[in-house]
Amino acid sequence: MPLSDYDLHKEIGKGAFSVVYLVTEKKTKQQWAMKIIDKKSSSKAALETEINIMKKVDHPGIVKMHEFFETTDKTYLVVDLVTGGPLFDKIVDKKYFTEKEAKSLTKQLLEALKYLHANGIVHRDLKPENLLLKSATTLEIALSDFGLSKLMEEDTFMKTTCGTPSYVAPEVLNNINSTPTAYSSAVDMWGVGVITYILLCGFPPFYSEDIRKLFESIMSASYDFPQQYWGSISKEAKHFINCLLTVDPEKRYSAAQALEHPWVLDSSSQAQPLP
Ligand code: ADP
Ligand code: MG
Repeated sequence: MPLSDYDLHKEIGKGAFSVVYLVTEKKTKQQWAMKIIDKKSSSKAALETEINIMKKVDHPGIVKMHEFFETTDKTYLVVDLVTGGPLFDKIVDKKYFTEKEAKSLTKQLLEALKYLHANGIVHRDLKPENLLLKSATTLEIALSDFGLSKLMEEDTFMKTTCGTPSYVAPEVLNNINSTPTAYSSAVDMWGVGVITYILLCGFPPFYSEDIRKLFESIMSASYDFPQQYWGSISKEAKHFINCLLTVDPEKRYSAAQALEHPWVLDSSSQAQPLP
């Protein structure tokens, strides 16, 4: 029973369907994060394949999976321990990031996604809560939870209908009533657009208390850059966001394309605030 290989210390995080514990592997004394997920439905055969892919993932910007096991009602994932907390908390503290900081974070995210996509993996649940800071003092991030939404197909729908600020791509909303299929990597790129937007101004591009209005604005990519908050932000940054918040997934920038965008390539520029 693999669970007995670990000492569970304390709870270090909570998700919608999971609790994350700080654990020590008894044999090696090594610390890990253990994510325990309540099974909604009985696990599918495809899950095994998915987990095996995730175990092969090896990239500095991605939380690596160490071990996976399950019981009848729970799934256990043992992953790299990341100690800086979710990027989301940092946004709440700081309100927003400078253009230079946002660029660095976006670039790290793009590198991780380029790697995942090149390996045929789509994250599908990109949002600041799933970007963890490697330490409290640096702005280095590691992507967690990739591929996991496959574990819980209803996840996207549930989170979306809860009316929280939405990171969901238009094509996902369009397909919400049909059987979820493997969405292309373009859904992640939409998420990059939403995250970059939030990093730069502190609020989401699409927001409405009314879920129908929220869906409509996403599906038509109706968002703007209010002058009051975006006046001092470069036009390259806005153009970059436009290239990602593009309704047609075919026209939306890929991770490789986004890494070549002038805003990302230019590491020196930082727009000066308007007088
Ligand atoms: P869910 O997918 O259910 O939302 P997450 O994987 O996002 O769950 O984890 C919930 C929280 O647990 C995160 O926001 C973070 O605070 C913490 N957490 C998750 N993974 C790790 C990790 N590898 N190291 C440290 N903390 C983690
Ligand atoms: Mg999560």
